[in-house]
Amino acid sequence: MRRKIVAANWKMNGSLELVQKLVPAVRDGVAALDNGLEVVIMPPSIYLGQVRELLSGSSIAVGVQNVAQWQSGAYTGEIAAGMAADAGCQYALVGHSERRQLFDETDELVAGKVARILESGLQAMVCVGETLEERESGDAETVVCRQLEGALKGLSAGDASKVIVAYEPVWAIGTGKTATAEDAQAMHEAIRRKLVELGLPGNAMSVLYGGSVKPDNAAALFAKPDIDGGLIGGASLKAEDFIAICQAGIS
Ligand code: PEP
Repeated sequence: MRRKIVAANWKMNGSLELVQKLVPAVRDGVAALDNGLEVVIMPPSIYLGQVRELLSGSSIAVGVQNVAQWQSGAYTGEIAAGMAADAGCQYALVGHSERRQLFDETDELVAGKVARILESGLQAMVCVGETLEERESGDAETVVCRQLEGALKGLSAGDASKVIVAYEPVWAIGTGKTATAEDAQAMHEAIRRKLVELGLPGNAMSVLYGGSVKPDNAAALFAKPDIDGGLIGGASLKAEDFIAICQAGIS
């Protein structure tokens, strides 16, 4: 079933001080919305315990920004999906363009991580998106479809309800440039078509948009029929902005 979701990706930002200020503010702001929107906070992993504690009794879920493609073992510095589940996470982000670009993550690697995430009982938030060069050369849809095919290889239709796709054009992440609501909608439609072609229930899966979503553009994006919410980076670090985006998610 398609669900409306707004997820916060803090990336490697924040401090314990920020956790203690931001999480209660978001928790109280979201509680006041009293709607069916699912809100997820994905802080740096080291703060998961504190974030969970501050969210106790709240409907806000927590997620991890990355997991290893292995279950356990001699992988110094890595975090297994099962450990994220133990820490109370419900979601794991995977395939973010920063991971693809800075840590050379391939679609094959992303597929391995998706498998570990699902084995651990978490839901996978799988990011796909084209670079500016790929968009300008007319290859955006081909690239996004190839990423979907690679990352979701082997996914059963039954497991699809535990997978959320986040379309994040790379050129819109952290740049202040957002895809127009029309362009984003067109890609979301293409994503659903591709999911169906892969034998997955594409019209029943949640597909989020990410890339410089702010309070002033969220409503137009979320009003589009194939956009089920957003993955929010920079604006998720300001309680007021993030709550305003969550509000836009319900209108
Ligand atoms: C992100 O990091 O997933 C993201 C969408 O960042 P921003 O909102 O800052 O563009």
